Amino acid sequence: MNDMTTGSKRLVVVSNRLPIVVKQLDDQWTFTPGSGGLVSALAPVLRNRGGIWIGWPGTVDAEPESLTELLHEATRHSGYTLKPVTLDNRDKEDFYYGFANEVIWPLFHDLQSHCNFAPRYWDAYTRVNRKFAEVITENVESGDFIWVHDYHLMTVGQELRALGLRARTGFFLHIPFPPLDIYMKLPWRFPLLRALLEYDLIGFQTLRDRRNFLQCVRLIAPDLAVTGKGQVITLRVGGRELRVGTFPIGIDFKEFARDGKSDEVIRKAKHLHEDLPGRQVLLGVDRLDYTKGICHRFEAFRNALQRFPELHHRTTLIQVVVPSREDIPKYHALKMEMERLVGEINGQFTQSGWVPIHYIFRSLNRTELLAYYRACEIALITPLKDGMNLVAKEFCAVSPEGESVLILSEFAGAAAQLQKGALLVNPYSVEEVAEAIHRAIHMGPGERRARMHKLKRFVREYDIFWWVDAFLKAAIAKDLSNFPAPEEYVPHMETISL
Ligand code: UDP
Repeated sequence: MNDMTTGSKRLVVVSNRLPIVVKQLDDQWTFTPGSGGLVSALAPVLRNRGGIWIGWPGTVDAEPESLTELLHEATRHSGYTLKPVTLDNRDKEDFYYGFANEVIWPLFHDLQSHCNFAPRYWDAYTRVNRKFAEVITENVESGDFIWVHDYHLMTVGQELRALGLRARTGFFLHIPFPPLDIYMKLPWRFPLLRALLEYDLIGFQTLRDRRNFLQCVRLIAPDLAVTGKGQVITLRVGGRELRVGTFPIGIDFKEFARDGKSDEVIRKAKHLHEDLPGRQVLLGVDRLDYTKGICHRFEAFRNALQRFPELHHRTTLIQVVVPSREDIPKYHALKMEMERLVGEINGQFTQSGWVPIHYIFRSLNRTELLAYYRACEIALITPLKDGMNLVAKEFCAVSPEGESVLILSEFAGAAAQLQKGALLVNPYSVEEVAEAIHRAIHMGPGERRARMHKLKRFVREYDIFWWVDAFLKAAIAKDLSNFPAPEEYVPHMETISL
């Protein structure tokens, strides 16, 4: 780890949810520290700098006083402290389910028809962002760097300034930033943009997101001046200066590659494939969400089975859907539609000894997930839009070289980095996805190896530790010319119909 991330200044990480799992057992609250790529990448930095993590513990029931005490206990050995932001039921409804999930989530994924622009949602959003800013202000020390995460907390930076805080602030948007014409539908488009411009550093997943953001800023600030062309650029706007960068988030490649070769995973992967003899297995792994394009994917698979009968008995699609936000009517309707389609397609094609779609609706444990990554020859990852898509990167890290193919949506953030190794598709085109499935199944070992080699190289080089390091460097570096420009997704000619 370099000087930028081990410097003496404290790091204050702020996210909607704290990295813990909260459970209530017989009137007793229990906390387990969270796991996952982001936590394991940030934990050493927080430990070295003695940092803190601020967020909502995910419950509206626990008493605020007892929470702080219990969180302290839960992280006694982790080397950093957790500070809770308490939300009540109204906050949960109008801020979390309302503004975050019914306004920003669909709009920023270009699905404006899914939006509900209820005026009370914006009030709740600014109220809750202020609550976060108040907790930050109570805990911050001089010289701290405050790193705010994701779309729930876009106006925290502005609230901090309003409270008189002078500390340096950074913000990373994990989801896409929409194109100008879509962003302009937002009733609060101008105050939201102005609030974002109060951060000292803003990070996006891809150059496409950054370009969309700049186009929007240009509209409200004709005096905007941009310096630099690389990964991190400087904006001068309304008398202030801030940095804007592109930081594609990665995974802990080494850990995935190592665990993917464990005896347990290898054994489980072998068993999975023994149940599907002579098949090439396609794999989809997604949270239940309308941005993931699961129904479009089923239609594409149906199209492939109709047009290429030689695939019958030779291929199976395993679709894992992880339950999420099921109590929201839109998500429940999506589940119904997915299950209807699986039944219809299986009813149409199943023959003795072959069921085309295996559908799993639950969350997998890590060994199971890795075994699926290892066992399946083709990953079919076709979100309609996605900030990055970590499943694509995890599949590349785990899958044995020379055997696997990645079919990836050109609208996933990961497409920019993985375009040279993946088969890129427009997820809205069932015929194009069907042709990619056909091509992947017939692809020889030489091409598979060459492509997977490139994919692994990218995922290994730009891992989660690179990401943390690059963001923190961008916040303090004097010279921005040392940051190389990241890859930009360039549509292939055959994907553009003129
Ligand atoms: N995942 C999981 N349990 C499962 C299936 C997937 O924890 O049963 C994880 C997976 O390893 C990945 C994450 O969920 O890290 C999904 O991230 P991605 O960026 O693909 O999509 P998101 O759900 O964040 O939109």
